[in-house]
Amino acid sequence: MIKKCEYEWAQNKAVEMMKNLGIRVKTDEEKMVSIADFGLSDFKKEGAQILTFFNTERISAKVIVLFKNQTLPEHWHPPVGDDPGKEEVIRIIDGTVYFYIPGQDTVKEGFIPERKEEYYTARNENIMKAGDQIIIEPGVKHWFQAGKEGAVMYSISTCVRDGLDGFTDPNVVRETQIIDE
Ligand code: ZN
Repeated sequence: MIKKCEYEWAQNKAVEMMKNLGIRVKTDEEKMVSIADFGLSDFKKEGAQILTFFNTERISAKVIVLFKNQTLPEHWHPPVGDDPGKEEVIRIIDGTVYFYIPGQDTVKEGFIPERKEEYYTARNENIMKAGDQIIIEPGVKHWFQAGKEGAVMYSISTCVRDGLDGFTDPNVVRETQIIDE
């Protein structure tokens, strides 16, 4: 869960970061920026700010904003019926992103969130900067983290079914609960 005031703070900060990069966000879209805490209730450590431009039956485009050292938890996009699962391209607009996929453990510049070792199994580190992009095939585990300056990136993909994504951490709940106090 996340407090309403913190939710709004994160929305405003994410919008400001996008605007500073020349990404036009309409006023009605500002309130559509969603803050995901993945049910872990510590979104500045494990969380993400996401603005979905569109999500049709077949294609989706989003901007993902990560604050300083914020980590989007390890997950994968499983097959759904005849669909092999979401294919996703992450392209960095600004900042440094430590992107992890399965392979040799080369974690060095980024870090595994404290006491969460078992939930971050993909340990092959890819350091990405503005203009870098990575294609994530369906079913491949991945997680990523912003460097000290935070980061802004595009996520272009086939149809998104967030509710069906698999997360390594069994405590993850995809719906973020907002509380008043
Ligand atoms: Zn993903």
